[in-house]
Amino acid sequence: MGRIYNFSAGPAVLPEEVLKEVAGEMLDYKGTGMSVMEMSHRSKAYEEIIKGAEQDLRDLMNIPDNYKVLFLQGGASQQFAMIPMNLMKNKVADYIVTGQWAKKAYQEAAKYGKANKIASSEDKTFSYIPDCSDLPISEDADYVYICENNTIYGTKFKTLPNTKGKTLVADVSSCFLSEPVDVTKYGIIYGGVQKNIGPAGVVIVIIREDLITEDTLPGTPTMLQYKIHVENESMYNTPPAYGIYVCGKVFQWLKNMGGLSVMKERNEEKAAILYDFLDQSELFKGTVCKEDRSLMNVPFVTGNDELDAKFVKEAKAAGFENLKGHRTVGGMRASIYNAMPKEGVIALVEFMKKFEAENK
Ligand SMILES: *Cc1c(COP(=O)(O)O)cnc(C)c1O
Repeated sequence: MGRIYNFSAGPAVLPEEVLKEVAGEMLDYKGTGMSVMEMSHRSKAYEEIIKGAEQDLRDLMNIPDNYKVLFLQGGASQQFAMIPMNLMKNKVADYIVTGQWAKKAYQEAAKYGKANKIASSEDKTFSYIPDCSDLPISEDADYVYICENNTIYGTKFKTLPNTKGKTLVADVSSCFLSEPVDVTKYGIIYGGVQKNIGPAGVVIVIIREDLITEDTLPGTPTMLQYKIHVENESMYNTPPAYGIYVCGKVFQWLKNMGGLSVMKERNEEKAAILYDFLDQSELFKGTVCKEDRSLMNVPFVTGNDELDAKFVKEAKAAGFENLKGHRTVGGMRASIYNAMPKEGVIALVEFMKKFEAENK
């Protein structure tokens, strides 16, 4: 059985080289006589895995020493609560709402303090990124929050908001490691790994040291305190050990590929193939503002629900999986993460051309 082209938004395609490598190590990881799945997280072999993964991530993203790297659980969604619980000293935070994930984070924060929606693109179904050059940032805001790449709608912040000196917190779940970032511009960068890095079950949090304090909101569970996880080097309890191991393999794969600037070039090239086609197609069209287009998630429609459904069905039969748009938006969405080969995008565009010719 061959592999299909998987355009899922998440859990998503992983590099075939990595899958083969972990398969090869499944029964006997480097002479230990066991799988990483069966291994104590306190063992020497596992310590090397998690330490190695952290170091490779630090190298890839050029993470300064005054930032900690955590491998946690609970998905990106748990961070929606963990962030306010740990950072809301003044109980005020400003949220830029550019999609469902940002909206959920905003609603969650409102449980713990004053969450201000300082900008939103909901008026046009989140199809653009609002101008964030001069926002009404609250004087006493503990942080400003964004979802940097909007997985469902297919938009991305091309420039970070002007936070007027306030700490920036970013959910980068669906653009993690897709291009170089300047870590120093953020207080927290976090993301669930199941979009662009590894298997579901791991969330990576990169957090600046001064934000790690004992001074959390009253009643914050031990498991939701950054300080506890930092002090225990992500091993306060059993970490999602196998998932972290696979993430480590992906970090090595990215290094071998040439790092994040090479990934950026590749991702730009792949996205251009699809967007260029959409821009000249008479049947398909992209759904978001051109300047704000994501390199990772590409939503498109025909404008006719029946034709959309027909396209998804025929595409599936031809080996292009998971092209159905998010249940809240409809249409189609092709997620073209790091591990999607250029050939996959070219093949998809060829298929779309054929479909267009047949359904004029
Ligand atoms: C998928 C996604 C989430 C939710 O992730 P979970 O790990 O399922 O909680 C949050 N933010 C963004 C940007 C996402 O793409």
